[in-house]
Amino acid sequence: MQATMLYGPRDIRFEERADPAIVHPTDAIIRVAASCVCGSDLWPYRGVQKINEPTPMGHEYCGVVEEVGSAVRNVRPGQFVIGSFFASDNSCPVCNHGYQSSCQNAEFVGGAQAPYLRVPLADGTLVATPLTPGADMLPDLLALSDVMGTGWFGALAADVRPGVTVAVVGDGAVGLLAILSARQMGAQRIIAMSRHAPRQQLAREFGATDVVEQRGDEGVQRILELTSGLGVDCAIECVGTQESMIQAIRATRQGGHVGYVGVPHGVSLNGEELFFEHVHLHGGPAPVRNYLPQLIGLALDGKIQPGKVFDLRLPLARVAEGYRAMDERRAIKTLLMP
Ligand SMILES: [Zn+2]
Repeated sequence: MQATMLYGPRDIRFEERADPAIVHPTDAIIRVAASCVCGSDLWPYRGVQKINEPTPMGHEYCGVVEEVGSAVRNVRPGQFVIGSFFASDNSCPVCNHGYQSSCQNAEFVGGAQAPYLRVPLADGTLVATPLTPGADMLPDLLALSDVMGTGWFGALAADVRPGVTVAVVGDGAVGLLAILSARQMGAQRIIAMSRHAPRQQLAREFGATDVVEQRGDEGVQRILELTSGLGVDCAIECVGTQESMIQAIRATRQGGHVGYVGVPHGVSLNGEELFFEHVHLHGGPAPVRNYLPQLIGLALDGKIQPGKVFDLRLPLARVAEGYRAMDERRAIKTLLMP
């Protein structure tokens, strides 16, 4: 098959690779129906996160089960499935507490920007849809594999509930879907921190009531003005930089909650400041698997349309173009069709 490899900074190649095969009896092979480029793929793409060798790319996927190992019981060939970027057994104590992305047997799923993908721990990782969805549903279902589940976890980690005021730091796909999640969970006021017009528009479509364009201290100041000097009940941090993290913490009222889902790059917090900010902090890699059944239901019922974050659709063979468009912020998120 032809698949996506990263060789070094901004060096994406679509080249011949061996077809994936069952390695462990708990594996499944799926024929990928749709994949995409993640904001987190841009860290190694830009060379911020070093890679030691050519690396298969992509960790968001949905598709049809092609083959299963001899120990797989819950999914069978022909089923349409969605899985998370972390394979999990969904049965260890950590999984039972709802944190499948930190499963005691977790394995990262890589190489999804390809026509075929090996998924480890298939029984615990993959969730089948009741029927094979039509092509029009693919973007919404694909989004559940990572970005939608991550935005959802961000909102839960920030303790979003009916009536609260929320600030969302970051206007990438995860930030936009954190807005959608906060809306679903009944937030009354949702402040999107964004300075890009097309993203502001989608933010409003997803439920943002206010937009703040300022960043850093000015951004915090503006949020305090919008909340009578108090700060928001809930902040969802979806970037992972020092500035965005501090912005989320300082924008939150005493006793409020910060949910952080941006993968941290160089974030370091001051213990004393944290102590006196008096906020709850919770975050980490989203346990997407935990939310898949619920989110699949919401998407199939048309209650959420997370696929709207895909504003560029390319055939898989043009994947390098998809990375470029996101790197240059011309696209929010690139959908890839094998
Ligand atoms: Zn587990």
